[in-house]
Amino acid sequence: MAVHPVERKRCLSCNRWGGARRPGAVPGTIEYDEDADKGPCVEGPWHGSLRGPRNACGQWVPWMMLEGDGG
Ligand code: SF4
Repeated sequence: MAVHPVERKRCLSCNRWGGARRPGAVPGTIEYDEDADKGPCVEGPWHGSLRGPRNACGQWVPWMMLEGDGG
């Protein structure tokens, strides 16, 4: 698994991202599979397009699964 910092505000940490991930062991991080790092934007500006850890947009909102993790 790879680790991604939420502070980068990329699609991978956005609440509108539909790919596979889980909150990381370290607060403020997300764990994901580098070989499956693409997922669809859901109801954002890129709705239906596959996005990944290097993509972002101005409508980023934090993944709600991260609330309360201290990050
Ligand atoms: S394109 Fe924007 S709204 Fe869609 S998942 Fe990425 S950051 Fe979120």
